Amino acid sequence: MTAASAKEQRIAIIGGGPGGLTLALILQRHGIKAVVYEREDSDKNRDSGGSLDIHEDTGQIALKEAGLYEQFKAIARYEGEDFRLLDKTGKIYMDEVAGVDDTGERPEIDRGTLCDLLLNALDPECLHYGHKLIEAIPLDNGMHELRFENGHVDTVHLVVGADGAFSRIRPLLTDAKAEYSGLSMVELNVDNAAVAHPELAAFNARGKMFGLADHQAILAQLNGDGRIKVYLSFRAERDWLDTCDIPFNQPKEAKRKLLQYYSDWDEQLKNYIHCSNDKMIPRRIYMLPVGLKWAFKSGVTLIGDAAHLMSPFAGEGVNLAMLDATQLALAIAHYDDLDEAVSVYEEKMYVYSSRSAGESDKNLKLIFSDDAATKLKEMFDQYHQQAELKE
Ligand SMILES: Cc1cc2nc3c(=O)[nH]c(=O)nc-3n(C[C@H](O)[C@H](O)[C@H](O)COP(=O)(O)OP(=O)(O)OC[C@H]3O[C@@H](n4cnc5c(N)ncnc54)[C@H](O)[C@@H]3O)c2cc1C
Repeated sequence: MTAASAKEQRIAIIGGGPGGLTLALILQRHGIKAVVYEREDSDKNRDSGGSLDIHEDTGQIALKEAGLYEQFKAIARYEGEDFRLLDKTGKIYMDEVAGVDDTGERPEIDRGTLCDLLLNALDPECLHYGHKLIEAIPLDNGMHELRFENGHVDTVHLVVGADGAFSRIRPLLTDAKAEYSGLSMVELNVDNAAVAHPELAAFNARGKMFGLADHQAILAQLNGDGRIKVYLSFRAERDWLDTCDIPFNQPKEAKRKLLQYYSDWDEQLKNYIHCSNDKMIPRRIYMLPVGLKWAFKSGVTLIGDAAHLMSPFAGEGVNLAMLDATQLALAIAHYDDLDEAVSVYEEKMYVYSSRSAGESDKNLKLIFSDDAATKLKEMFDQYHQQAELKE
């Protein structure tokens, strides 16, 4: 296949999350057309997550390749790197404050704002909302037939699964399934915190707050829209959210029951529950086996959570999804042959994603272990010392 013919190959991306959108945009910048099929009727990225820190060596590289780095820098929240670490008594272990002139390595941006940047730069013709993939069928000629719930059928040379934790493309490559990580969360939101709850807003500061004790956590992060997003986190059996008898659709009673799990926690920490609005989202955290690989197959690959779903405790999920997109797009632009491009991408991706998945797994165990605040502080101290030695 010549370079010109590579551009004529039909490429479908399943999923319009940060990974799929980044891939489509970088391909577009290299003159390569791809089609994105997204199951939702319109972009829902704003609804499905909070503030994300975008790392210098992963997500920011993707934004540079996507031509969005300057726009990102103009709106990224560098002060969002503030970090407070406490135990349940309110004892403070870490209180990191980003300086006024800091342009640190991990500035924050809300997931919706990040995806808006990508969407504004993408040719809208490549986006197909309301297309839920039901099945991808390998054909004898090496192509894949894609069947959608709305009856649409497409046949493509390369299908990229960017369809998240429960990917419908993954079974074409591996039997591995997303397994429950042992962690359940209840997501809460404190609206307009600075105005409506100034005391809590001051306590939380401008970035993240981790309160850790007794194999539980209150994890909070200030978002760009003034909300504090809160994840009450529990080490629990897979069915705990069903059996815990917390009526998540009756907020007053649910809050009362949730507060019982934090009865001996400091009042400032309990305030995150008191001040939250009435919407509660129970979540189970899933992960794929650390170091997952598959035997190369022509015409199909995975990026992002579909390839290496991990718990959020390395803060890498969205960053890796965007780095995968970059590596795959650049390989497709560079190599004449799609198979060669996919193979080069997959070999690179296995190396960095297994490192992050291992780190995320280790951090999850540490954050929910005995005396977790002390251990997490020690881990950060070691990390800072190593960084200083490198300078
Ligand atoms: C509670 C929580 C907190 C997190 N915090 C962070 C953090 O601080 N930092 C960080 O980097 N990461 C974080 N993550 C992880 C991050 O959200 C994911 O890693 C990231 O969104 C992965 O991007 P993706 O594009 O691969 O998949 P997704 O964002 O999951 O997007 C997949 C898309 O595919 C679509 N789709 C699914 N199935 C189909 C189908 N059959 N047909 C068509 N479309 C389909 C979905 O609708 C969706 O739009 C967090 C995750 C959770 C759960």
